[in-house]
Amino acid sequence: MSDEFPRSRKMLYYFGMILSIIGIILFLSNFVAIFTGNIFNFNPIVPLVGFFMIAIGQIIRIIGAKGIAGSGIILDPEKAREDVKPYSKAMGGVIDDVMSNFDTKSANKEIIKIKCRNCGTLNDEDSTYCKSCGEKL
Ligand SMILES: [Zn+2]
Repeated sequence: MSDEFPRSRKMLYYFGMILSIIGIILFLSNFVAIFTGNIFNFNPIVPLVGFFMIAIGQIIRIIGAKGIAGSGIILDPEKAREDVKPYSKAMGGVIDDVMSNFDTKSANKEIIKIKCRNCGTLNDEDSTYCKSCGEKL
């Protein structure tokens, strides 16, 4: 079961994501105040708090994704490998999906073979002689 994300790390990941989103809203809210001419509402503490919430949110998200050892907070290579496993598996899954998609696409249009009239061997499209019996194609 070590390949699956522990529930606690999933929660941590989403908590970090939510914290970042709130941080972005806080960070941007002051620019809205400036543009709407409500300059008296400008409070330099708010975007600063927003900025730190984004930073902390991102760190929490990475810890959730890669684990405490996996994200390098504690140095333990053995534990790190174990921690990163579900993350890299998830990322690998995405890459596998993309690759298999790509493969079927190229397979559909690129594999063109010529069948030898003499022996029936399938030869490459651009070959002049049969690779099996030497007959001219
Ligand atoms: Zn042949």
